[in-house]
Amino acid sequence: MSTLTLPRWFARARSSGPDPSQQPSRNKLRIGIPRVLNLWSTHQFWTGLFGALGIEPRNLVFSGDTSEEQGRQFGKGRGTVDCCYPVKCISGHYGELVFGQREKLDIIVSPMIYTLPSFLSGHVARTLACPRVMAAPENIKAGFLKERDVFAEAGIHYATPFVSLDEPKLVPKQLFEGLKDAIPGLTREETARGVEEGYRALHAFNDRLRKKSREVLEWCAREDRPCLLVLARPYHMDPGIGHEIEVDLQAHGYPILWAQYFPIDADLMNWAFGPDVGAGIIKSPFDIRDVWPSSYSSNTNEILWGAKAAARMPWVACVVRLASYECGMDQPTYTPVQQIVERSGTLFFSFQDLDSTKPAGSVKIRVETITHYLEKYAREIIERKKAAMPPGCPLLSPQPVMT
Ligand code: SF4
Repeated sequence: MSTLTLPRWFARARSSGPDPSQQPSRNKLRIGIPRVLNLWSTHQFWTGLFGALGIEPRNLVFSGDTSEEQGRQFGKGRGTVDCCYPVKCISGHYGELVFGQREKLDIIVSPMIYTLPSFLSGHVARTLACPRVMAAPENIKAGFLKERDVFAEAGIHYATPFVSLDEPKLVPKQLFEGLKDAIPGLTREETARGVEEGYRALHAFNDRLRKKSREVLEWCAREDRPCLLVLARPYHMDPGIGHEIEVDLQAHGYPILWAQYFPIDADLMNWAFGPDVGAGIIKSPFDIRDVWPSSYSSNTNEILWGAKAAARMPWVACVVRLASYECGMDQPTYTPVQQIVERSGTLFFSFQDLDSTKPAGSVKIRVETITHYLEKYAREIIERKKAAMPPGCPLLSPQPVMT
């Protein structure tokens, strides 16, 4: 499907909202962004963009973490479809932005992200967002328009710019088209400058987190200590979606890494994947065709790549997989991910079907089981994995070569 068709489909029935000429000046404009779905991996882009467009940082308001209370208080009766919780919970976020602010917002921006800026881009078939993610802003909006236009009544302009974040050349045009009716006096030129700032902020943030992850891995390598890798979608970092299972594990003293921010320095990648590249199995360290040929979905690709990285990294002694109830995208990946991890001798634990309520009892038992296995087997796992990898691991001679 062409990317041009999609914005046309979704171009109808926008919330009317106030006339932009009636909006306050730029430095007083208050913009709300629901902290949901792929905002968890792209928020720095949006803060960079709106900062460059003259929006005061204190006037850029992200909704809070997802919670059942948020849904009850702000989203009740506004559900539109029966699907996975990461999408269903968005009603609560919208409601919080409309009804839960001490100072009223002027605009709610809920981007329809079509492609994601992934570190695997160029090495995989596509970097598409899940269709439910992409369509969510239109779908959830319906719950706020069904009887009357709640946004218009609150004097809020609801903007859902369609954006292909993995195609930076398209982004200035897409965002100008999607935001020009909301932001007074917006020009193409400043949108283009804002987009550059957005990418700069996003890349700087990602680099910083990857550097931190590398420091953790280097410490583990130096001390021969285990760490855990989480394989999940970015929004499982939301305490109301992933239920902080990794936090419970960290409380037992195990460092936690997320695949999205795994270090991708050239020295480490060449050491981990070089033999497979040399053997012609893959074309580059970021190629996943050996395990996932239909590499279209960005977050799915990163989960599969993360499984491969975990399998090769001796100090990643355990992988924790998180997935939400009714996630059709994750279902076909359960078996390959588990096989990749377990064949390397790495421990694998999966928390599937996560929903709105934290299954506290079963999480507690599982966390105790995981820590028991780690205490008993981590040393052996690390030694076995080290023996299977080439000598000269760059984590033990920490001179990172940046990609
Ligand atoms: S990837 Fe899964 S959990 Fe995420 S929005 Fe799509 S169906 Fe829902």
